Amino acid sequence: MKHGSPTTDRYLKFLTHDMPTLESILTCPRCGYAKREAMPTNACLFYYECEECGTLLRPLPGDCCVFCSFGSVKCPPVQMESGCCEQGAPDTA
Ligand SMILES: [Zn+2]
Repeated sequence: MKHGSPTTDRYLKFLTHDMPTLESILTCPRCGYAKREAMPTNACLFYYECEECGTLLRPLPGDCCVFCSFGSVKCPPVQMESGCCEQGAPDTA
């Protein structure tokens, strides 16, 4: 028997689960410049421009956002194993 909608379950999990880390240190793969950035919990950051060299970072294949690819901490949805924005990109090569 299940009570409540999946949304409620997810919300309760969010409330009861340890809060995810909301800051990640992004490291530019080109110049190595690292910057601490706050991560939004309700959206994925898909593009990030390096302050130092101006490179536009994008997630690597299989990653949902730049934090998962270049950050010291993965994005909050991934930390909480609740899944992130579904990409449907099956290239796991
Ligand atoms: Zn850079």
